[in-house]
Amino acid sequence: MSDYIPTAFDFDPNERGHFGIFGGRYVPETLMPSLMELDEEYKSVRFDKEFWAEVNYYFREYVGRPSPLYRADSLSKELNAEIYLKREDLNHTGAHKINNTIVQGLLAKRMGKTKVIAETGAGQHGVATATVAALMGLECEVFMGEKDVSRQELNVFRMKLLGAKVHPVTSGSKTLKDAMNDAIRHWVTNARDTFYIIGTAAGPHPYPLMVRDFQAVISDEAKQQILEKTSRLPDYVVACIGGGSNALGMFAHFINEEETQCIGIEAGGHGLSSGKHGASLAHGKPGILHGQLSYLLQTDDGQIKEAHSISAGLDYPGIGPEHSYLMEQGKVRYDSITDKEAMDAFVWLSQAEGIVPAFESAHAIAYLKKMSKEELEGKTVIVSLSGRGDKDMTQAMELLEL
Ligand SMILES: *Cc1c(COP(=O)(O)O)cnc(C)c1O
Repeated sequence: MSDYIPTAFDFDPNERGHFGIFGGRYVPETLMPSLMELDEEYKSVRFDKEFWAEVNYYFREYVGRPSPLYRADSLSKELNAEIYLKREDLNHTGAHKINNTIVQGLLAKRMGKTKVIAETGAGQHGVATATVAALMGLECEVFMGEKDVSRQELNVFRMKLLGAKVHPVTSGSKTLKDAMNDAIRHWVTNARDTFYIIGTAAGPHPYPLMVRDFQAVISDEAKQQILEKTSRLPDYVVACIGGGSNALGMFAHFINEEETQCIGIEAGGHGLSSGKHGASLAHGKPGILHGQLSYLLQTDDGQIKEAHSISAGLDYPGIGPEHSYLMEQGKVRYDSITDKEAMDAFVWLSQAEGIVPAFESAHAIAYLKKMSKEELEGKTVIVSLSGRGDKDMTQAMELLEL
């Protein structure tokens, strides 16, 4: 497998970070110098072989890349199709998030920053950031909604064990969106020595572009792997969407291929008609949150609505701006999967393949059952298995009677 280096795409944002009308940099004036500094730095390393040689070293030796593209034989047989799983669950720390934190950590060091901060919902991005901070000798502070701190004790402990400081956030709904607000606020006053590691392809420019570039290693590998195994491109590529980073990473190298349909799966929660879901594209409207313009769950008078999903990683009222653009361009098909469908798929994959997926990834798996027989028959599908289910065991024990 050749070393990974980003590629420029025709759907890159413009100079000011706009994907069509989406994206941008809607931040307080005081934050602009930091974003410009980061933008300049990223431009200088985006295609720099030396920088990426170091990234590839960590991808290989620390993360365990390339991740396998595994042919799921039982699923394939049952569905009468060729089902392949891109095994991001096998990465160090158990998900795709480490791909992004490794590169942002290296950027932080390169820029001479000694501290990193991050926001986290369930704690997965907090853990991935604390891990990289320990690895690279950076101080780490993680902002986490107070509600999530008490719901996710284990991840809070893991972050502390890794040497990070965890700040419980008490404003607003005391969840992820408030944690992100506080992280941004902290960054404004500490930008000189602090790098803000954002966990998904969202936030002000250049974050959505950077995070997509970093996660695009997933489809760069998957494309080489599927061509090696089947000598052709897949018919479908499926991934779940929280902020949208594993999906953009999984789609990047397939999106311009005529043969391949990319499919993004939002959290359907209790069902779209219940109002309790995380489907920003299906039921949101364009609005501004966390420095970007994108689809957003909001009330008629523009207040942010709380998202709901059984999986904490999909429980976000917004979505990365590139997805809003891709939807409006008709480049990607978007659909949703309910909590119930995801839980069925969680058990299905565990028992059919001996692979316990993260609740988030179970949404992408579940879509295989939502597709019609005719759509699937004889077709090749790659599903992004964004993470493993270990983190979800306590919740699964409460939900499932086995
Ligand atoms: C965080 C997370 C997600 C959702 O984040 P994206 O940025 O949309 O990829 C999906 N799967 C897993 C396993 C996660 O931890």
